[in-house]
Amino acid sequence: MKAIVDKKKCTVCGVCSDACPMGAITVGETHVDISDDCTLCGICVDTCEFGALSLPQVGTGPEEDLGLYSGVWVWAEWRDGSVHRVSHELLSAGRMLADKRSAPLCAVLLGSGLKENLSRELITFGADVVYVVDRPELARFTDEAYANVLVELIRTRKPEILLAGATSTGRSFIPRVAASLRTGLTADCTELDISEDGHLLQTRPAFGGNVMATIICPNRRPQMATVRPRVMKPLVIAGHEGRIENVSVPDECLKSRVEVLEVIPEQDQTARLTEAEVIISGGRGLRKAENFALLQELAGLVGGAVGASRGAVEEGWICPSHQVGQTGRTVAPSLYMAVGIAGAIQHVVGMQGSKFIVAVNKDPQAPIFDVAGCGVVADLFEFLPAFIRKIRQERGETS
Ligand SMILES: Cc1cc2nc3c(=O)[nH]c(=O)nc-3n(C[C@H](O)[C@H](O)[C@H](O)COP(=O)(O)OP(=O)(O)OC[C@H]3O[C@@H](n4cnc5c(N)ncnc54)[C@H](O)[C@@H]3O)c2cc1C
Repeated sequence: MKAIVDKKKCTVCGVCSDACPMGAITVGETHVDISDDCTLCGICVDTCEFGALSLPQVGTGPEEDLGLYSGVWVWAEWRDGSVHRVSHELLSAGRMLADKRSAPLCAVLLGSGLKENLSRELITFGADVVYVVDRPELARFTDEAYANVLVELIRTRKPEILLAGATSTGRSFIPRVAASLRTGLTADCTELDISEDGHLLQTRPAFGGNVMATIICPNRRPQMATVRPRVMKPLVIAGHEGRIENVSVPDECLKSRVEVLEVIPEQDQTARLTEAEVIISGGRGLRKAENFALLQELAGLVGGAVGASRGAVEEGWICPSHQVGQTGRTVAPSLYMAVGIAGAIQHVVGMQGSKFIVAVNKDPQAPIFDVAGCGVVADLFEFLPAFIRKIRQERGETS
């Protein structure tokens, strides 16, 4: 879709072309052309004094009776027989939302051969109801079947809110669910709340992390949001009771054009950042790839994983799976050590949930010190070898 030109009103003055930040408007002899680079920002519409430009009507879809929708749902992700941590975290956020709406909190469990203990675990973390769809076709994740089943459940039971983890699986099929239901989806929320009139307040970084935007979905239901692992805190509710409901779905929901032939586990264990309790991260201050060996040595000593800023990743010193931040992983270890990292907001949003942050930077004004519990103003090439030596000495090891 792109802006529309009314040729009868257009005087080919070219003002719109100068104003377009995307360079999407070219001015010919007799008319202007709008290319596919148009982002529908509307600047051209505002600048055209002849009213020759307009934006296509992006409808809100057919009117819906929003009052028919009730309850908060969490899509419960699980792997290798255990509930994924993000689902615990979402249940605690969902519990708070459901309590504010005086509505039930429900978890949706999809898979094959699902053990009852998974459902019981979801109840312990706050679910009032667990909807289970247990079918052999759901043994391995495929976007199509998982999306179809979730859409079917939502259409028949009408939850007001649906939350899902921004994991690779969630990111893959949840947008398809939202598109099928013609509703909105806010990805990577860092905070969730609900207004008195039932609008889910979905807060996430916007404009490159420079502002936090709170987004609502006023006209469609369910209101859908994804949240990355480790952003919210899980909460066990001792003695919480709930019920498990096995749900059947029509066979056509389970069809998928994709066949999973083989699942190959991730080889690079060091990239399992989100699970690590200690992370030693390096930035552009490390100067070259070889210097990451210092971080690896330290991480090895303390049983941690190595992370990186986007600066270091962009330099090609370490692969992107190690990147922490807005466009990398969100982490919340017990200890996060930022070495030679400036502390740009896009990095900080990915690690500020860490229990304790140590920063090593030679610039005392570096913003990373604003979030650090302990700041070391030093040249990292002096500090790190001395620190490693000290740990080895304390342990009675020779370096
Ligand atoms: C849309 C968008 C998304 C982004 N997403 C991310 C993201 O996910 N993650 C991320 O990290 N960034 C992200 N960025 C980039 C971010 O804005 C910064 O550019 C990046 O984090 C900078 O990396 P850095 O701190 O390693 O490098 P620099 O900004 O170059 O900082 C290097 C630091 O090292 C210190 N230093 C230098 N030498 C030494 C030494 N010898 N000893 C000690 N200290 C030293 C310097 O004082 C400096 O503070 C994003 C940007 C945008 C626009």
